[in-house]
Amino acid sequence: MMKTIKLSKTNCYIISIDKGYLLVDTGYAEDKIKFFKELSNHQIELNEIRFLFLTHHHDDHAGLLNDLIGQNPDIRIILNEYSVELLKNGVNTRAYGGAWCSKRMKKAAEFYRLINKNWTLSFPPFINRDTDIILPNQDVNLKQIIGINLSAIYSPGHSIDSISLLDENMNLYCGDAAADYLRILGTRYAPPFITDLSQFYSTWQKFVDLGVKQIYPSHGNKINIEKIKMNINKLTNDGMGKFIWD
Ligand SMILES: [Zn+2]
Repeated sequence: MMKTIKLSKTNCYIISIDKGYLLVDTGYAEDKIKFFKELSNHQIELNEIRFLFLTHHHDDHAGLLNDLIGQNPDIRIILNEYSVELLKNGVNTRAYGGAWCSKRMKKAAEFYRLINKNWTLSFPPFINRDTDIILPNQDVNLKQIIGINLSAIYSPGHSIDSISLLDENMNLYCGDAAADYLRILGTRYAPPFITDLSQFYSTWQKFVDLGVKQIYPSHGNKINIEKIKMNINKLTNDGMGKFIWD
């Protein structure tokens, strides 16, 4: 069983596991009230959540880590090894380069920033604990580590630390490794920002090769793998928009 928690811009997912739930991602720090409201609408208590799978460190995914762990320290976070340092910094990293996925996206994002002064790409810094599960930059069968029938798929490209969660039915919870969001701006199922385009599409090819069927992204509706196949390599480095923030 899977339930969606829809926040201001982020979808979080709650997956039933043995003796409780696994939560995929949190949301912006500002999503706190909505998060708990949605959780109670689904009749789920925070103390039933055993694991928190963090797809990557960005502000709209990691914003509520301190709040959730503060209220239930027993939650074990599953995260990529790069995320450990990036979460301590409390800001979406710019250390690995990157660009807006299209020139139209760049224009829209720059306009949005002008009218939303509180859009800072930052979040409350988080320091992970010994009980958290730090994954290497490769695919990991979580059954072997924590006894749940799910796999973590290293999915870089959107960010260096991106990971996705694959279930037995070939449903993939991909964070921002794909998106059905603002497609009118020419995204071709990519998220607004991409760190490394060739790495991004290698990750898509891996999803296809693994036999993924449906993708549940953090932004927008679920995506059939056929859409990914049809759009692979459609964006180009020349067509992207330069990322200028300072
Ligand atoms: Zn992101």
